Formats: sequence, C-alpha cells, structure tokens
Amino acid sequence: MYNVKSKIAEEFISDSEIRDTMQYAAENKDNRELIMSILEKARAYKGISHREAALLLECNQPDLIEEIYSLARDIKHRFYGNRIVMFAPLYLSNYCINGCVYCPYHAKNKTIRRKKLSQEEIRQEVIALQDMGHKRLALEAGEHPLQNPIEYILESINTIYSIKHKNGAIRRVNVNIAATTVENYRRLRDAGIGTYILFQETYNKKNYEELHPTGPKSNYAYHTEAMDRAMEGGIDDVGIGVLFGLETYRYDFVGLLMHAEHLEATYGVGPHTISVPRLCMADDIDTADFKNAVPDEIFYRIVAVTRIAVPYTGMIISTRESQACRARLLELGISQISGGSRTSVGGYVQEEAPEENSAQFDVSDHRSLDEIVGWLLDLDHIPSFCTACYREGRTGDRFMTLLKNGQIANCCLPNALLTLKEYLKDYASPEVREKGEAMIKRLLHTVPNEKARATAHKYLEAIEEGKRDFRF
Ligand code: SAM
Repeated sequence: MYNVKSKIAEEFISDSEIRDTMQYAAENKDNRELIMSILEKARAYKGISHREAALLLECNQPDLIEEIYSLARDIKHRFYGNRIVMFAPLYLSNYCINGCVYCPYHAKNKTIRRKKLSQEEIRQEVIALQDMGHKRLALEAGEHPLQNPIEYILESINTIYSIKHKNGAIRRVNVNIAATTVENYRRLRDAGIGTYILFQETYNKKNYEELHPTGPKSNYAYHTEAMDRAMEGGIDDVGIGVLFGLETYRYDFVGLLMHAEHLEATYGVGPHTISVPRLCMADDIDTADFKNAVPDEIFYRIVAVTRIAVPYTGMIISTRESQACRARLLELGISQISGGSRTSVGGYVQEEAPEENSAQFDVSDHRSLDEIVGWLLDLDHIPSFCTACYREGRTGDRFMTLLKNGQIANCCLPNALLTLKEYLKDYASPEVREKGEAMIKRLLHTVPNEKARATAHKYLEAIEEGKRDFRF
C-alpha cells in the first residue's frame, strides 16, 4: 500500500506506514546502539528516513538528546551558515468559505471582521512593508472563489512587484493560498512567485476530515496532492508544514517527513521549505479546546530532528512563537523567520483595535523588524534579505545543487552581507547600523574565494554610494 512515488495521497502518506513507524519508534526508544548508529548515519549530511527520524524524536536519554541538538546545529551551520532570512506575511483577504474548526476565518464566524484589500490598499501595505526594510513577502488569503479568485491573487502579485518606493522593492513574493488546479499553479508560476506554501494541517485523514467539515478544503486527497499539482504546473519551490496541536505530534511529524520523501523521490527535489507552526489563540478559537498541544521541549526536538532528517530544506518559524522560543529554535535548524508581522488584513498601515479583529491568530513576538535585526546581530546571526537564488533562476534542484556543493560561503554569505548593508543604509536605527556594519566588516574576510570577496567589497562600496540590488 505504501508507495513513496505514488501520486495518490493515501499511498505516499500511508496511515499504516505511519502507525508502524510510531510503533517501531516506541519499541526501540531505549536501544542506544540503534540510536547512535542513526546519528552516525546522519553525520554524512544526507538526511535520514522517516523511521529513523521517528526514533530520534522518541529518544529520551539526556546525553543522546544533547547529541541530537548538537548535530542539528552542525547541519544548520554547514548548509546555512549563521544566516537567517527575513520575511513578512501580507494578509490580502480573510473571506473564506471553508469550515476549518481551528481557524477564525471559518465561514460561520460572525465575530471576525471580514476585509479584503483593494489594489490601492495593497499598495499602501507594501509601502509600509518596504519602509520597514522587507524584501520578501508571504501572501496569505482565505479561500473564497468569489471574493478572492485566482485573478485577484495574480493582480495583487503584479501590484506588489510593481511598487518601488524610495529604495524599497519586494523582490520575492511567496504565496500561501488554498490548494488549487494545475492550471492555476501555472498562472502563479508565470506571475513570478517564489515558493508556493501550503500547510497540510494534519496528515491524519480521519482527523483532517473532522477538522475540515465543510468547504473545498474538506477534500483530503485534493489538499494532500496539491504539491504534486504545483510541481506539474512548473512550480519547483514548494513549502510544506503541519499545524502542530491538531493531531498528535508523533503522527504528523512522520507524515511531514513522508511528504518530503515523496517530493524528493518523485520530482528529484524535496521541499524548499518546511514550516512548523503551532496552533495559537485567535478570535473565536481557544487552544484549550484542542488536546494535542505540543510542549516547548518536544517542539525543540521536532525542529532539531527535522533539520537532521532533511538537511537541505529551509525551515521557517513565524511570530506565532515567542522571542525566547525563537532564540532557541534559531540554534536548532531554523533558517527563516518573520519579523514585524501583522496578521490582520490591512494591519501594516493601521494597527487594529482589538474589537475590530480581522487577524488570523494572535502573534507572540511583537517586536519591530529593526528590533529583531538588532537582536539577531547580538546573537551572532546574519539577518539576510537575500532573494538572489530565485531571481537568478536557481530554484528547485538548481538551488539544492548549490547547497549540496557547499557554494554557500562564496555566494549566499556575500549576498546576505550585501542585503544586510542595504537594510542598514536605508532602514536601520543608529545602534543597529553600528552593530551590522561591524558584522559585515568582520565577515567579509571569511568569504573563501578571493575573487568573490573582492567583488563583494566593490558592491558594498557601491551600496554605500547609493546604488542598490547587487547579487551573486
Ligand atoms: N487559506 C489557505 C489554506 O487553506 O491553506 C492558506 C492560508 S492560512 C491564511 C495560513 C495557515 O494559518 C493555515 O494553513 C493554518 O495552518 C494556519 N492557521 C490557521 N488557524 C490558525 C491558528 N488558530 N493558529 C495558528 N495558525 C493557524
């Protein structure tokens, strides 16, 4: 029944394979030798299988857990260095015809204020985001064929890319909208999107159907096979994720890795990103009504073992998580974070009063982008606004090749420094500018290739003189 290359949801995400895997992990959790052999295999930086990962996640021996954390850190540094890519979500519309019981956009919610941005309002939001320093957005919208048809999304993408305010520009638009047809994925690709992101919410079909009782999203197979259609439509950077807290974390962790394995086996390229959102309080949603909340300690392990299992993937954490939790996760494998986020429709231009709530969930990290950039610099991470790979056509397997060949030091590091420099010049507060300039000075010397180092130096000088948008 289980077939990693099948294009049928219930075959590449096989319930019986997930249950067998969970049983295997439970039975072997005290087998130190086996766990150590898996860690040894993972040290080859080629990933491990969902079964092996499930066992690492189940391990409860403190010294081995420390080894898991230290390996995750090592893999993160090997492929991503200490760069952290910055992005912000942009909520276009919260009109939705689905009945997702955990999401305040659900069609029956009468308390949330429904809003949809006009193209002029999108312009204003994008200017506000550019003025913060953002270069990369994730578009978010509810599913509503009349209010938010694909034409609306495409027009919005066009609007966003066309806005050049002062030195600002949005250079990569990722899109998180409901599962759609191959034809619509093709249109999204033609509109120049970066990653197509879709969270599975849960891989457990029975639970999925209970959590999505009405609307198009209730079709488990259509939702689960969305990434296959996206690939068929020519989008080769796809982002997967589950909403932790809906199903037991053990089940969804295995499902998530099986999905990554399916994409890699079938298309030769795994997920560009994996997101690990946890369920949050929201308008008429109370997390206390859901019994599968994931405690922080387990959550850290989920991130670390995912990093070990899928070494090349970008890993994203949003402002659903607190500053303290994000600080810990940066060390364990996260490579992208959002900053200065508003989850309400129109929230960047005007922050909402609580009673006119249109937000999707309550954020935990309320700091401004500048505060987050300063904080990352203090923690010795490089805040990066880089969008170079996608603009140079390095998507899908071409991006993965760059990573696998270890070219990041000559390519991604200078790109991160160049985009940080732009941020410092155009948007940073004086303290952050000082810290950032010191980091650039310190790290420019670590670009190994002499020619790349000299070119980066030249570009940095040009940015100082007012020129923008250099990349390797
Ligand atoms: N409507 C689109 C869909 O159905 O996939 C995508 C966009 S939705 C705006 C983005 C994601 O937010 C959802 O996929 C879900 O995982 C997450 N989400 C929904 N309710 C949430 C909550 N209460 N707390 C945290 N995340 C939530």
